Amino acid sequence: METTAPAEISAFETVRHYFHLAADRLGLADDQRELLLAAYREVQVAIPVRLSDGSVKTYSGYRVQHNHARGPFKGGMRYHPTVDLDETRALAALMTWKTAIAGVPFGGAKGGVDCDPSQLTHRELEKLTRALVQRIDPVLGPTRDIPAPDVNTNAQVMAWMMDEYGKAHGYSPAVVTGKPIALEGSYGRESATARGLVYMLREAAAAIGVLPQEATVAIQGFGNVGSWVGRFVQRLGARVVAVSDASGAIRCERGIDAERLAVHVGAGSGVAEFEADGVEVVSVEEFLSTPCDVFVPAALGGMVHSGNAGLIEARMVVEGANSPTTPEADALLREKGVFVVPDVMANAGGVVVSYFEWVQNQQHFRWDEREVNDKLGSIMRRAYREVAGRAQQRPDTSLRVAAYELGIERVVEAARLRGNF
Ligand code: GLU
Repeated sequence: METTAPAEISAFETVRHYFHLAADRLGLADDQRELLLAAYREVQVAIPVRLSDGSVKTYSGYRVQHNHARGPFKGGMRYHPTVDLDETRALAALMTWKTAIAGVPFGGAKGGVDCDPSQLTHRELEKLTRALVQRIDPVLGPTRDIPAPDVNTNAQVMAWMMDEYGKAHGYSPAVVTGKPIALEGSYGRESATARGLVYMLREAAAAIGVLPQEATVAIQGFGNVGSWVGRFVQRLGARVVAVSDASGAIRCERGIDAERLAVHVGAGSGVAEFEADGVEVVSVEEFLSTPCDVFVPAALGGMVHSGNAGLIEARMVVEGANSPTTPEADALLREKGVFVVPDVMANAGGVVVSYFEWVQNQQHFRWDEREVNDKLGSIMRRAYREVAGRAQQRPDTSLRVAAYELGIERVVEAARLRGNF
């Protein structure tokens, strides 16, 4: 039920909606809006893969490069059956605003393949990844476009990408980020999105008078982001009171042990099969209506929609996924007085540490994890203060609109200075 949640509006329409709200505030002219919404380049390729049973399956692969006014294109590669051009376009634009809000010198891009990796063997996944890189190779490069992990891709996939790109161009670790530590990956990259989110959660909690160490947290989705958010908030002293994934949902008022749950899910089991004292399996509706301080959507886009946003009983929503909340749901949450920390700022920690990895790769010099985490903390706190400060300047301005305003303004300034606007 959860993975097929109906989005009342397409992914790109959602991003366009928020863009125009901010563009109205900034007084951007129509021709400027047109230019900022259009992708610089959209690449679509057919990827035939010979499967282990001898048959050939042809997948569609995408790389959308949205804007590179502020630096090389940057963004993840997603492997999921729902990947299509509209969604990739939307996620590429989100990356443009996200890198600008975080203040890292990158533009925005996104890519993916419409495959279900759970149905592919390790060898098939490798063949698919190499074939994808061969086809989009001309638009990639450490100073052109730098992919990274996203839904269902990981350090191993990035290692194959680096290796395949290197066959034509020589050893180039800086062409992808999120690589394994053994291949010039950065310490702290795997958990960076969640760590960054928790830095921001702490800032936002203080703003609404919640003590982070006493907070109750519900997490929708327990993949990379959700499982690390669970572990980090638990280490802070907060209680994870409800968790859901595609298998179902669980709840426990006393708190679910996120460390143990991460081990359970890491071994390939669903959240709903987790057994522990006091933990009960609940319906999706019961999960959503769990009273809590913080609700973290960390699953797929459009999962918080007009049909379920009314159920959420949280004081704040901190968006771990990209585009998890449809505009109608966003408005409903606002009416209910829920404080929303949007994706473009809350989940920027991943791309921030990608930036650190890219910097380390240019120098072939590794920072220790403390240095990575400290620098990540400073950037996340600064981004929060900049966006929140902006939102406070005018009444009735959400963090989302203020964040988009800041991101758009920075991209416009860079484009203007470069003579492209
Ligand atoms: N896929 C992540 C995101 O959506 C990380 C992108 C990156 O590191 O380039 O922000």
